[in-house]
Amino acid sequence: QAKREGSNRFSYYNSKLDQKRKALFQLQHELNQAISREELQLYYQPIVNIEDNSLRACEALLRWNHPTQGRLAPSTFIDLAIESGLIDDIGWWAIEHVCKQISDWKQQGKYHLKYVSININAKQLQRYGFIDRFFEVLDLYGVKSSEIKLEITERSLIDNFKQTNTVIRQLQSHGVRCAIDDFGIGYSSLSYLQKLSFSVLKIDREFIKDILINPEERFLVESIIKIAKRFHYRIVVEGIETEEQKRIIQEMDPKISYQGYLCSPPVSAEILEQKFLNVL
Ligand code: C2E
Ligand code: MG
Ligand code: MG
Ligand code: MG
Repeated sequence: QAKREGSNRFSYYNSKLDQKRKALFQLQHELNQAISREELQLYYQPIVNIEDNSLRACEALLRWNHPTQGRLAPSTFIDLAIESGLIDDIGWWAIEHVCKQISDWKQQGKYHLKYVSININAKQLQRYGFIDRFFEVLDLYGVKSSEIKLEITERSLIDNFKQTNTVIRQLQSHGVRCAIDDFGIGYSSLSYLQKLSFSVLKIDREFIKDILINPEERFLVESIIKIAKRFHYRIVVEGIETEEQKRIIQEMDPKISYQGYLCSPPVSAEILEQKFLNVL
C-alpha cells in the first residue's frame, strides 16, 4: 500500500515537473518570437536629484506584452532569456530602441535628460565585437556616448570579472557611463569597488526597504555610500517609496540621485513625456 502511494506521489510530482518544464519551454518559444512580433516594450523610470526632485535621467525597463498573459515583468522571463541565449537579441533590441527614442525626443525638443540607462547582461558585453556594434548603433541614431548608461548587475559580474572590467574600461574611456546594478545583494566583496572601473554605483532597494525600522540596515547603507564616494563613484539609490526613506538617505548625502515609487514607477514613453518631458 505504502509503496503504491509512494510511486503515485512520485508520478504526481513528476508530471507536475513535466508541466512546469513544458510551460517554460512554451514561454521560451514565445519569447523567441516576441521581438519580431513587436511584443517587447520599454518602460522608463525617472532618476532624480534627491535635493529638489529635478529630473536627471531615466532607466529603461523591459516589459513583454504577452499575447495571452498580459504585460509581463522581467522577473518572469529574464532568467529564461539568459539561459536560452535570447538575452543578446533582447539586449540589442533595447539598445537600438533606446537610441531611437532619444533621437525622437531630440527631434521633438523633449530631450532634457543627461542619459538613459540600459540594463545589459555581463555575458553580452564580453561577446566579440560588442563595442564596435554598440557605437555603430549610437552613430546611426546620432546619440552621444555620454547619453547612454549601461547597468550591469553585481551578480552577473562575478564570473569573468576581469574580462568584463576590460570592456567597461573601454566603454568609459569612450564616454559611456557604466553602473554596477543591485549593489550589495550579490556576493562580491567591497574590495571590488577599488578594482572595478565603473563610475556609478546603484544601491539595491533591498537595503532601503527596512531602513526606517532597522538601524543596522541604515548603518550598512551609510557605510556603502561612504566607501563608494571615497572611490569616486556616483551613487543612485533604488526603491525609495516614502518621504521618510528619502529624508534618511538625503541626510546621509544630499547630492545623491534616486529612483523609486515616491517619484514615479516605471511608465510608458508616452506617460514619461506627458509627466516629465513636456513640463520644462
Ligand atoms: P533593476 O535594473 O534593479 O531595476 C529596478 C527595478 O526596481 C525595476 O523592476 C523597478 O520597477 C523596481 N523599482 C524601482 N523603484 C521601486 C520602488 O520604489 N519600489 C519597488 N517595489 N520597486 C521599485 P522591474 O522593471 O520589474 O525590473 C526588474 C529587473 O529586471 C531589473 O532590475 C533588471 O535587473 C532586469 N531588467 C529589466 N529590464 C531589463 C533589460 O532590458 N535587460 C536586462 N538584461 N535586464 C533587465
Ligand atoms: Mg537596472
Ligand atoms: Mg538595480
Ligand atoms: Mg534592483
